[in-house]
Amino acid sequence: MGDAGPLEESKTLRVAIIGGGPAGLGAAIALSKLPDVEVSLFERAEELREFGAGIRIGYNCWRVLELLEAADRVKGHHKTAIVHRNGLTGEQVGGTSAANLPIQYQPRRVRRTRLQSALISKVPPGVIQLNKKLASLDDLGAEGVRLTFQDGTNATADLVVGADGIRSVVRDHIFPDHKINFTGTTIWRVLIPVTSVEHIPELTVSTSWWHGPTGHIYHSFVDDPGEVPYEERMMEIAARNVVDPETVTAKTFSWGVPATKERVESHFLNYDPRVRELLSKPQEGQWKEFSAFAGPRLEKLTAWNKSVLLGDASHPLSGAFGSGAAFALEDGWILARAIEYARSTSAPLEKALEVFDQIRSPYYLRMYQHLDDQKARVVEAKKSNPNATFESSLAARMQAFGGEDALPWIYRNDIEDVWKTYLREQSVPNGVH
Ligand SMILES: Cc1cc2nc3c(=O)[nH]c(=O)nc-3n(C[C@H](O)[C@H](O)[C@H](O)COP(=O)(O)OP(=O)(O)OC[C@H]3O[C@@H](n4cnc5c(N)ncnc54)[C@H](O)[C@@H]3O)c2cc1C
Repeated sequence: MGDAGPLEESKTLRVAIIGGGPAGLGAAIALSKLPDVEVSLFERAEELREFGAGIRIGYNCWRVLELLEAADRVKGHHKTAIVHRNGLTGEQVGGTSAANLPIQYQPRRVRRTRLQSALISKVPPGVIQLNKKLASLDDLGAEGVRLTFQDGTNATADLVVGADGIRSVVRDHIFPDHKINFTGTTIWRVLIPVTSVEHIPELTVSTSWWHGPTGHIYHSFVDDPGEVPYEERMMEIAARNVVDPETVTAKTFSWGVPATKERVESHFLNYDPRVRELLSKPQEGQWKEFSAFAGPRLEKLTAWNKSVLLGDASHPLSGAFGSGAAFALEDGWILARAIEYARSTSAPLEKALEVFDQIRSPYYLRMYQHLDDQKARVVEAKKSNPNATFESSLAARMQAFGGEDALPWIYRNDIEDVWKTYLREQSVPNGVH
């Protein structure tokens, strides 16, 4: 990817993707399938290595994984039953059963590494360049964008795809006024052998949430029993603690940094003994800490007529909806369709970016509005019942909890239908895809 002439003279579209998470890998797969598109993916890490523990794959994610031809390689635990408990007493307060969907679309909890390796296997050889941390971007006008990496090297591209996560360097350059802040939520995550907790009553029966006054514990299997022998199967634990962000004076960003056992356990001392035993199982050094940051919605996901944001970089929602991998993959697939569409009508790259933004921006607007409404409802409930106990608040939350069915526009989103609808609305008789 050396220096190139003016954009309109170059037949091949040179795309530089920054970041090798779900957004970057999905975009690399989808864009590499287009003719006359040269894709390079730059990832800062020395090796592509997912941290975190498990990830939920639901209908929206399965659909886009199918389109990327990676669904077959993603195996995990089929979530047939989910139990909600009062984390302090262990009393069951809610639950859901298997989703009413064909088996291949049912929600699964999978190891993050499985999703990642499935995606990597579909990226053509030579596309991914590791050890390439983007330091800065310069808009060269008709010449494209110059990328400067921390190792001092440069590249030039016609299109820069910012898939570099919540603390996006690309976003910092194209929208320098946008800022993210600590939300008050800290999450600790780990995978432990199922055999280490099999003796604890109830723990290995289902995926469970143990809710407490200022957080919760979530645990689930992450392996497909048809694939992984019992002794090797793992359980994911995600422990979450929430404080009022106003009370936090300074918070350095932690993302996948080790946390001591004492630090994690100290937030859940009054929980049910079964949960405390669960939390005691990981070895020292295994817990990883993630601090949740979020920022306001971006009015536009594209800039300079030659850059676009995907995934967490584009919508810093801090993991709300538990479906960020699906959103990231959907973004990349739609970007490829938009470029294909613009090229089929000999329209410039600017048109492709406009199409992408027209489809994805309103979707993220709807998510931000939903979260605002939810927040307003919580404030209202607190105001109308200031003396509510933890038990009564939990009961109200469980009653209001609609699960996936309450938000079909997220959890039943079919990105291929979204694209077909867009084409129909443009009165294109036969889609180019
Ligand atoms: C606790 C928690 C639980 C979650 N659970 C779920 C879940 O169950 N299901 C789900 O779908 N989603 C879940 N999410 C959200 C999901 O993890 C993210 O939405 C998803 O990983 C976003 O993908 P991404 O590719 O946009 O960003 P990331 O996965 O963050 O990837 C960004 C990549 O860019 C690289 N990078 C960053 N800066 C640079 C740079 N300057 N130069 C080069 N490379 C760079 C990083 O190394 C990284 O590889 C969860 C998130 C959290 C925090």
